[in-house]
Parts: sequence; structure tokens; C-alpha cells
Amino acid sequence: MSNYDVVIKGGSLVVPFFGIQKSDIGIRGEKIAAIDRDIPAANCGTVIDASNRYVFPGAIDSHFHVGIYRPLKDDAQSESTSAASGGVTTILSYFRTGKDYLNKIGPYKEILPELLELSSSSFLTDYGYHIACFTEEHIREVEWLVKEGGVSTLKYYMFYKLLTLAGATPEAQNYLMIDNTVDFSFLYKFMKEVSRVNQLYNQYGNISLSVHCENPEVIRGTQAEVQANPGDVLLKDYSDARPPWQEELAINETAIMAKHTNCPVNLLHLSSRLAVEAGKDVSHRYPDIDFLLEATLHHLGLSNDMDLAQSAKVNPPIRSRQDVDYLWQSVIDGTIKTVASDHACPTSEKKQGDLWTSMPGFGGTSLMFPILISEGYHKRGLPLHRIAEICSANPAIYHNLHPKKGAVMVGSDADFAIVDIDAEKEVTLENLHTAQEFSPELGMKFKGWPECTLLRGKVIFEKGELTGHPGQGEYIKRPVKLHYPEFS
Ligand SMILES: [Zn+2]
Repeated sequence: MSNYDVVIKGGSLVVPFFGIQKSDIGIRGEKIAAIDRDIPAANCGTVIDASNRYVFPGAIDSHFHVGIYRPLKDDAQSESTSAASGGVTTILSYFRTGKDYLNKIGPYKEILPELLELSSSSFLTDYGYHIACFTEEHIREVEWLVKEGGVSTLKYYMFYKLLTLAGATPEAQNYLMIDNTVDFSFLYKFMKEVSRVNQLYNQYGNISLSVHCENPEVIRGTQAEVQANPGDVLLKDYSDARPPWQEELAINETAIMAKHTNCPVNLLHLSSRLAVEAGKDVSHRYPDIDFLLEATLHHLGLSNDMDLAQSAKVNPPIRSRQDVDYLWQSVIDGTIKTVASDHACPTSEKKQGDLWTSMPGFGGTSLMFPILISEGYHKRGLPLHRIAEICSANPAIYHNLHPKKGAVMVGSDADFAIVDIDAEKEVTLENLHTAQEFSPELGMKFKGWPECTLLRGKVIFEKGELTGHPGQGEYIKRPVKLHYPEFS
């Protein structure tokens, strides 16, 4: 007698920090109830045949931008569907005040409830938010965000500081809808407060600050230099306009401030060898400070010798093939602990123009397993259980979702991606299931597409068909050990 609501039978279970285990999974309600070599199918509700398939914990896409370029509800619906089609079961999305997103400024005590209300009927996957602070009032709200709001990761955008300094155009200043500066004296106060709140709540997990490390003052000069050259602008030129050494500089600036304020920092989307070396260097130099090094799917999957033009414009830029190889090496040796999509979908209209005028960013969430399995496992020998760490267990641990998410354990949420690691498909807009009307990866072939995605015990995507519905995803308050007593 087993009496499970769902049994996943006959698959190879991919267990983070362990390896591959031939195991069945019994699910009761929303939770994993049993992991055993053979769970009898009799008396069970649904039996999912996973023979010849690998069963991964659902991926956690920890860098996402729902609602940046399109209305938040629409974007959440279409892009969480895209995520689910690719085996992603939890999205952690960045949110800020100002233009784009909700086009408003104010205290998060007012804006977060509005954001959560808009989100509540829109997501197919579970989700959480990282929140950016732009005013003194926002900084004073950090403790409230953690304790009441369920937001345990904050964000600082270094490249916006120029917009708020003397000499910026009123248009630029209006973009953030603030009249204060967000320079390093703002970052200093912000880090001190994140550090103070981290001391209070650290028993539940790190309260950390995510930083986009690019130095805008340097870019002002290097971009002008590149723009002075005549001719078409190629991806390589865009990379030269924002050279890797300004990332290196920005990482060092951030790290020194983190050291003096004792603030845990997530170094986002490291794109180049110099950036990763800087991340490694500051981690060794300041061993008491927690640094998380993140890479994105596009910096691992694309290089600037490809003929891609503005469809692949993103910040930091797509780098050289040598940089891509170094990023992979750093994923394999464990220096880079998380890989995310930085999924942000401009409309085709916003992607028009050349590399200077078009909007940065593009989607890629549904390629999480195909890129990690094709480029990581098949091409470079990255073991499958390490892939489960990079895209599920590590983001869960570092962003305070563990062990509710990212764990293959009795009592954890039954979130799974069942993957055929040898199935090869070409990237088309149709199989990305996104509302984005372009993709830099179109026409590329990858192996390792998920066939079935389960969210808390329910099949939400199967064999290319949506079986769940928007609104099925729940807001996950973080740290889960603070907000969910069963995990405390
Ligand atoms: Zn981003």
C-alpha cells in the first residue's frame, strides 16, 4: 500500500551534492513523501513513467526581469510559461521603482503589496522578488522587507549613479523618478543597513545585496572612443565600449565597500575572465565576506564573434570565445556557483535600431537545461548532479529558498524537471513558448530539453503542452526558514 497522489517511476534521480540514483519518487499533496528504489504503482493517483529519463529538481531561475519591458501581468504569464516549459519551477525576479516596471516611486510598504497583488494571478511557476533601493526611505524599509515582505535579497544598480549626479540631463534624472543621488555614499548607507539586518536574521540565511558591477564613468569614456570609429557596430565593438576591465574595477570597488560594511554581496552576471578573476580575488582577499559569483546562460552560450547584432545586446556585453571558455572552466571548478537567465524581454520595437540605441536584454529562461546539458555535460563533461547544484540547489541555498526548494528530500516541495538528455531540438520561437518575437539562439541546436515539469506535485508542462494555468504559482517568502515554520 503506498497511496501516493503521484509517483514518478523508473527514472534516474539527479541528486545535488551526491550523484545519480535510480529511484522512484512518491508525492503526497505538494511535497515529496518518499524516495525509494521501487515504489509500487498500485493505489496511486497518477503514475509518471520516467524510464530512460533523468529527474532533476526543478530549476530556480534566480535572475529574471518580469515586467521590465511589457505590462507586468502579461509578462509574468507568458514568461513564467516559457520558464516552466524549460523545467524552471521557481523564478526570482528583480524589481525596482521608476520608469518601466510599474512606473512609480514610493515606499515599498505600499508598492510591494501592489506588486504581489498583480503577481498573484499571473505566474505559472512559484516566484519571489529581489528589490532595488533608490531612496533613503527604501533603505529604512530593508528590515520590513525581510521580516514582513519576504524579500531577503536587495539590489544596487551601479550604472544608474551617473543619471543622478550633477550634469545629468533632466530626462535621465526623470528615469528613476528620484531627486537624490545613488552614488557610492548611497551604496555605503545601503550596505550598512543590509549588513545590520543580516546580523539580525542571519540564523535564517544570508540577507544579501546583489550588485550589477559595471563602472559608468569608465564606460562614458570607452564608449565615446568606440563610437568615434566609422562603420557598422558589431557585438565586438559593443564589448569594447564596455570593456571587461571596467567590470574588474567595479567588482573591486564593490568588494572594498562590502568589506568595510560587512555586507554579503551577490556579484551578478560575470561576463569575462577579468570579472571572474576579480570575483575570485576579492573572495580570497576578504574571506569573512560572503560573495556569490553568478553567470548567465547567454554569457556561457554566445560569443561576440557570432553574427548576432542587436538581438544579443545585453549588459554586460557578450564577450570573446576565450572569455566563454574561462566562464565554463569557472562553472566546472565551482568558482561560479549559480547560473541564471537574466530573462528580460524587450518588444521587437524596443530592440530596433543599432547596438547603441536598442534596448539591452533578451529572454532565455527555457534554455536553462538545454544549454547546461549541451554545453556543460555533453561538450565539457560537467556531471549532471553538478548541473542540479548550479541551477537548483545553489540558488536555493544562496537566495534562502532551501530546503523548501532545490532539495531532493522528503518534506521538500515536489518540483521536478524530467529531462531527455539526448533529445536534440533546434531553437524556434515556438519551442521557447515565449512572447518575445526574437531570440539570439534561433536556429541553434541543443540537447537536453525537459519533457515534463512538476510544480508542487502538479504537472504544469508536458511534451510541449501547457497543462497548468497562470495563477498556479505562489509567492515564496524568503528566508523560507523564517517564514515557513516547517523548515525552521
Ligand atoms: Zn538583470
